[in-house]
Amino acid sequence: MWRLLFSFCFLQLVNLVSFSQEFHSDFKIDCDTNVYLLEAYQDSLPFYEKHFGRTKKINIRDKKLKLAFYVALRHYPELKDVHMSVDLKKISATMMAQPTFGFLFHKQENRRYQIFVNKTQANNGMYYKDLTFNSQVGWIGHEFAHILDYSQKSNKELLVFISKYVSSKRELKKTECEADRVAIKHGLGKQLLEGTNFFYNNKRISKVYREKKKNYYLSPEQIVTEMAENCD
Ligand SMILES: [Zn+2]
Repeated sequence: MWRLLFSFCFLQLVNLVSFSQEFHSDFKIDCDTNVYLLEAYQDSLPFYEKHFGRTKKINIRDKKLKLAFYVALRHYPELKDVHMSVDLKKISATMMAQPTFGFLFHKQENRRYQIFVNKTQANNGMYYKDLTFNSQVGWIGHEFAHILDYSQKSNKELLVFISKYVSSKRELKKTECEADRVAIKHGLGKQLLEGTNFFYNNKRISKVYREKKKNYYLSPEQIVTEMAENCD
């Protein structure tokens, strides 16, 4: 009888623990936004362009990327009135964000920013079109984190930051990991995780780019940990 009762209690305990673990791990993921599906946003472009297009210039025809840009932008209300453009360019990363060349001649509040998207797969093996819509939202969310950071810096602070970023690997890592964390805090952890997992498992990516991302950005495990710590 006692043995039976003990077994019953033990089973209940196991159930409780596994339930709470399951709940906990679900909680970690579900604290973030749902997976974004392109089909759900197919008709949304006119709406987004009307509401956000005044300060945003997307010089790319790709409708999927345009929509991913606006869906990510909804996670950054701070950037609604910030002027920025998106262009295709042959670059060594998948995407990059920077202030426009003559930023020193503008006041901080009038500054403009550019996001460049790598236009060729041959460059590093990573092509933006290969990313799912959900992953593109996360990737752009990472670039928005950079722009948010830049937009909070004075011209002098930005100049100091750029010189450190290009000359110090430690500063590069700190900046890139922080951009990932900011994207997670803006509710894009799940999107970032999907893109990073895709990247880690994509055999076509060049070794140099693969190592760079592993060294300087959050790993999938770190993203999950950050999500658990930051999304409650
Ligand atoms: Zn970055």
